[in-house]
Amino acid sequence: MFHINDNFTKLPGSYLFAEIARRVKEYQAANPDADIIRLGIGDVTKPLVPAVIEAMHKAVDEMGVQETFRGYGPDFGYDFLVNAIREGDYATRGIDIAYDEVFVSDGAKCDVGNIQELFSDDAVIAVTDPVYPVYVDSNAMAGRAGDYVDDKWSRLVYLPCNAGNGFVPAVPDCDVDVLYLCYPNNPTGTVLTKEQLKVFVDWAREHGAIIIYDAAYRAYVTQKDIPLSIYEIEGARECAIECNSFSKTAGFTGTRCAYTVIPHEVMGLAADGSKVSLNALWKRRMATKFNGVSYPIQRAAAAVYSPEGQAQIKEVIAGYMENARIIRESLMAQGYEVFGGINAPYIWLKVPEGMTSWAFFDLLLDKCHIVGTPGCGFGPSGEGYFRLTAFNTLELTKKAMERISALK
Ligand SMILES: *Cc1c(COP(=O)(O)O)cnc(C)c1O
Repeated sequence: MFHINDNFTKLPGSYLFAEIARRVKEYQAANPDADIIRLGIGDVTKPLVPAVIEAMHKAVDEMGVQETFRGYGPDFGYDFLVNAIREGDYATRGIDIAYDEVFVSDGAKCDVGNIQELFSDDAVIAVTDPVYPVYVDSNAMAGRAGDYVDDKWSRLVYLPCNAGNGFVPAVPDCDVDVLYLCYPNNPTGTVLTKEQLKVFVDWAREHGAIIIYDAAYRAYVTQKDIPLSIYEIEGARECAIECNSFSKTAGFTGTRCAYTVIPHEVMGLAADGSKVSLNALWKRRMATKFNGVSYPIQRAAAAVYSPEGQAQIKEVIAGYMENARIIRESLMAQGYEVFGGINAPYIWLKVPEGMTSWAFFDLLLDKCHIVGTPGCGFGPSGEGYFRLTAFNTLELTKKAMERISALK
């Protein structure tokens, strides 16, 4: 019989959310009257804004008329969207991104998962810990992660982020080829200042490494001096690829549109020692394996950059961030050590001394009927921490915090 890609059999099961669902189901069965509030939601919950819906409707109608019907679009995105991205997300912050440095796609998850195809089989990969699992699993599937032993991959370099280092990881102290960074961070909700991010850009340039920068939560940044793009850092055009998405920015998780930026300066070494442009490789890859995002969805995404679109999405995000503020402040008032929640919809808290993440999960479920996410599910350094999210309603967020306050 034929052989499969054995790297898949090395992957641990997607244990975290299955185990959460199992425990909640079991608890609900034993306590049918328990009115459970979910603060583990990692998805937006508010509807698409009117400017987006209007643009999408109009584009759908165009598809039904001979004169305005569109078949396959350009491989890397329609001009109107690519230019809206260049202007709205970069030029407004003083960053010049060329037209052919933007690649429109159907998701940042796909992009951050697929980008590893450009790296050699033996590339050494580093991730922050805790981490968004896609960076790890996509490299494990390609055979770069080694073996999964004691909750860690043997060939991955983990950069711990914890209260001890203020969630600012140290640069790798060994040879690393590819570093994944996500800021504002999922799951910790923490950010890096320009100075802190510059340390990584300088390290990457000095070591000939590349940074894959996931900026999916950039729209949640509220503090003025926090970078929204890695290209705000001098030298980043030589060493960084940036992935971005309309999912969290504009509620597109079920609509699907994202983009990746690869500056022309980003080069990698070929086997013969010559330098090769990653932008050119990604163009080749996308032209081969991707056929573009649908026209109505690209119109919808472009509408996010209109003045109405901007005002409307800012209001939605402000609503989520009000929930984040409430969670953060009520937990702090209860004496919890709390991180994130200022520039991201995630609140990362230290569980009470002597407790594991799962013990705290059970306590919160049992005593408060609240579901959150145990930090250990995001990597070894997540043990002892717990994630709450700001995506529930204001009413239920407040109710959940009242329950936690009554606990102490
Ligand atoms: C939600 C999320 C994304 C967005 O993924 P899409 O595929 O664009 O929906 C990307 N990165 C992180 C870390 C996320 O949490």
